[in-house]
Amino acid sequence: MSQLWSDHVAGLMPYVPGEQARIPDLLKLNTNENPYGPSPRAIEAMRAALSDEMRLYPDYQALDLRRVIADRFGLAPDQVFLGNGSDEILAHVFNGLFLRGGRPLWLPDVTYSFYKTYCRLYEVPHRLIPLDEDFVLNVADYTGTADPEPAGVIFANPNAPTGRALSLDEIIAIAQARPDSAVVVDEAYVDFGAESATALIGRFPNILVIHTLSKSRSLAGLRVGYALGHADLIAGLTRIKDSFNSYPLDRVALAGARAAIEDEAWFDQTRQAVIDAREQLARDLGALGFEVLPSKANFVFVRHPGRDAADLAAGLRQSGILVRHFRVPRIDQYLRITVGMPEQCARLCDALRAMPAV
Ligand code: PMP
Repeated sequence: MSQLWSDHVAGLMPYVPGEQARIPDLLKLNTNENPYGPSPRAIEAMRAALSDEMRLYPDYQALDLRRVIADRFGLAPDQVFLGNGSDEILAHVFNGLFLRGGRPLWLPDVTYSFYKTYCRLYEVPHRLIPLDEDFVLNVADYTGTADPEPAGVIFANPNAPTGRALSLDEIIAIAQARPDSAVVVDEAYVDFGAESATALIGRFPNILVIHTLSKSRSLAGLRVGYALGHADLIAGLTRIKDSFNSYPLDRVALAGARAAIEDEAWFDQTRQAVIDAREQLARDLGALGFEVLPSKANFVFVRHPGRDAADLAAGLRQSGILVRHFRVPRIDQYLRITVGMPEQCARLCDALRAMPAV
């Protein structure tokens, strides 16, 4: 980097998104996209939004969409915050909730890697708390006495890339033990079978829940996420948003997101299809000798006791199939595989079967 940049920029640790390769007949099982596609009603609404009205700024408060989301969860619109993808909301959360007089943020050692990227970006002091050897988050690690108190706690539920989920009681225990810390629950994958902490928002003013339309609503390309929590948490996020970008969601996104959230039938049908395909894929990979962690997400996290994960990923790539392999400590012998349609999962298993044993 040239010396025009501050040292801070040189010290950043940018997130590395999964590969978006241009390979013919590619099967992308590496970025947890949803193969079933968005609600046709959402596509229709987005087409309709492409009108002369595009010359006007969108509603900077996005009130209509916030009302629809609030109604769905039995909350008020002032308990809903919207962002350009949940990643943007996470950025505001790290910036706004986790910089508190040098107190550390607590987070698991194996989790969504963007959290560490945001720690660097906003210089958030933090403590990585190891998951146990089966990648289970031990709640007692988060509930004991602490000096100093954490600035906040963040975890993904279900966790990424493991797919493991905590119960509501476990989340309650953490929120109860840390009343002076924001407890942020990233529920990007919750609709695939985990219990949602949204049910706790009325009881715990320190819980903030973050959702995305990228996974269960199959709208990763639209970039819409939302956060739910006490009105005071939402007001702080709104202050940050309005000091950063008043219009994170454009008119097309507002229209598409609203129609997608209103189409409960499409939502239920497609997420159930993903859940069914996941259970089948877990059984099939088990039969191929893989150890498969129990997953409540739209991916499985697997390792093969006799085969190197990097070799497997490279071999699959040769067959035109992308899966995610993280070259980082503890998980470098694992693959994270997005659940595709049943025929796509079958293609993956066929390719694995055809690979020479080592
Ligand atoms: N949280 C987790 C745990 C994720 O895996 C992802 C997807 N990479 C996100 C948040 C971000 O999702 P998006 O920005 O597409 O809403």
